[in-house]
Amino acid sequence: MAKTTQEQSDSIDPVEAYLNLDDETLENLSDDDFLAQQRLLLETERSHYSEQAAQLQAEADSMVQNNEPAEVQFDEESGEGGTTAIDRERDLALAGSALAAIEEVDLALRKMDRGVYGLCESCKQPIPRARLRALPFARLCVRCKEGGLPRNR
Ligand SMILES: [Zn+2]
Repeated sequence: MAKTTQEQSDSIDPVEAYLNLDDETLENLSDDDFLAQQRLLLETERSHYSEQAAQLQAEADSMVQNNEPAEVQFDEESGEGGTTAIDRERDLALAGSALAAIEEVDLALRKMDRGVYGLCESCKQPIPRARLRALPFARLCVRCKEGGLPRNR
């Protein structure tokens, strides 16, 4: 479904450089620079997650193929294949979370396009940059995240 347009370059990693900025430098970035960096982070995460999802999905698919009953067992005593089924479940679950993460990333990118990126969805206050850098698709500020409900006072 998702096509990855991102080219991976092995030279200096701008994402790495950004993640290594100290908090003060981070705070002092202009909004444009900050958003550009965050977009880069989001796009990087997106390609990471789509690779992961594709890989896990492929792994899960291959388990199905391996599991194809070439030899059909008529006795049902064996739990054989159980491990594979569990592994497959696990892979599919992980692929599912990767896909969910991609949706979060896309949501954040859309918010960026609408100019509302980085605002807490609950209290509408700006989420601190350091938090956004650590979790670029954060929807809530730490207080709302931990408090569960927005506090008005
Ligand atoms: Zn909040």
